[in-house]
Amino acid sequence: MRITSRRGAYRVLTMAAALALPLSLVPAAAQADPGPNTAQKRLIDSITAPAVKKHLQALQTIANANGGNRAAGTSGHAASRDYVVSKLKKAGYTVTVQPFDFAFFEEKSTALLERTSPNPRVFAPTPPDGSSVGEFSTMSYSGSGEVTGTLQNVDLVLPPGPTPSSSSSGCEASDFAGFTPGNIALLQRGTCNFVVKAQNAQAAGAAAAIIFNEGQPGRTETLLGNLGEPVSIPVLGASFAVGQELASATSVVHLKTDTISEIRTTHNVIADSKWGDPNKVVMSGAHLDSVPAGPGINDDGSGSAATLAVAEALGKVPTRNKLRFAWWSAEELGLLGSTEYVDTLPAADLAKIKLYLNYDMIGSTNYAFKIYDGDNSDAVGSPAGPPGSDEIEKLFEKYFDTLRQGHNGTDFDGRSDYGPFIATGIPAGGLFTGAEGIKTAEEAALFGGTAGEPYDPCYHQACDTTANINDKALALNTGAIATATVVYGFTSDLPGPDTRAAATTKRAVTSAGADLQGRSKG
Ligand SMILES: [Zn+2]
Repeated sequence: MRITSRRGAYRVLTMAAALALPLSLVPAAAQADPGPNTAQKRLIDSITAPAVKKHLQALQTIANANGGNRAAGTSGHAASRDYVVSKLKKAGYTVTVQPFDFAFFEEKSTALLERTSPNPRVFAPTPPDGSSVGEFSTMSYSGSGEVTGTLQNVDLVLPPGPTPSSSSSGCEASDFAGFTPGNIALLQRGTCNFVVKAQNAQAAGAAAAIIFNEGQPGRTETLLGNLGEPVSIPVLGASFAVGQELASATSVVHLKTDTISEIRTTHNVIADSKWGDPNKVVMSGAHLDSVPAGPGINDDGSGSAATLAVAEALGKVPTRNKLRFAWWSAEELGLLGSTEYVDTLPAADLAKIKLYLNYDMIGSTNYAFKIYDGDNSDAVGSPAGPPGSDEIEKLFEKYFDTLRQGHNGTDFDGRSDYGPFIATGIPAGGLFTGAEGIKTAEEAALFGGTAGEPYDPCYHQACDTTANINDKALALNTGAIATATVVYGFTSDLPGPDTRAAATTKRAVTSAGADLQGRSKG
């Protein structure tokens, strides 16, 4: 709220103002606990939610013009990429577009599954946009095709065993010893990945495969599986009830999947500021791709748009450290863009990245203000981030504390693009307002909203539009992102052990009086 209420006064940062800023923006001495000074606060307050919403509207317009989504490998993502690139060039950045190949998947129309004998019956499908879950679904990376054939049970455990993975149906080629080529394989969840079962079925000559849930409590619902790599035959996931029903008598089924599953090229967008020490890179990122099911305005148009608005405001500001911003692609397919970036960057360049800040979903309608748990103070799930991640968490905590806004932690569970960075030891942090998880009563007391409901009821759905954004969450998180970027852009005391050890640099800067890093002569 504070962020929007001050907009206007410092909204437009002229070139003259930008050049006048650094003297006062740089702290007089290195601070153990970096917080923005007055001039930095002014700069932070110039970055407001309306600028972010303008970008969200543009992303929505792009989705509307491109079949309702902005998924990696589609025209909607390419248009999003071009939009971000043009804004960044205008703001003065050096922009790199990094191509990489990935396995593209799209379900073009709703699948069909019917038993033609005995007792003909049509099973309820799951539509491609995931707006409802039927009795079966098309697995991601399934082949496309229409098949009528006899179902053949493959090493099923019915009734189900007492514990998960009592079944190893289809995990071994020997499970298919008596399989009749041309039949449809009926498989049960358990022991190995779905893709192993599907590939073994394909190798045994199955015309299609149906994999049903295993049957123990918690393993009965319709499988919404992901094979992870292209398989040629149609592969469906089904509920335990459907599997049990189909297995009970020799059934003939008719099924159809309508998919595109192929290798495509997509791009990350990387923008480097012209300012700051190139050996001390402060990096922020968000993923620009949506899921195929919807326009992805909260996930992650919100993080992308806020990062873009912050970048635009800082393009002409001579920071001490170099600012770098990234808009990843194919995050939704398994952090592919950020992984490609970290894996292909030379080690010497990787060492220059002093921290990575990630913003994935920052405007959820039933929001919580979640900060990545850098120090593992929550003591749940994944361990602490690399040293320095704790300091990043504290900076965000301080931001919300100053606003008297509650906040809580969110585990470094590897579900977003900080994953490859923390894996290589780079301190990381970031913000998150919640996805498909359920808001607790404790959180409802802290943040308002509805306990027992998802943070984002439109997560990965067609309804993730500009209407699926909470303005307060977006405004406060925009302020938090601006704060972290400005503070880390100007600090001489970056998080983590390696910069703190650089005592000589610090002393030189402090004794220089007007410590204008990047412009100083000695
Ligand atoms: Zn996301």
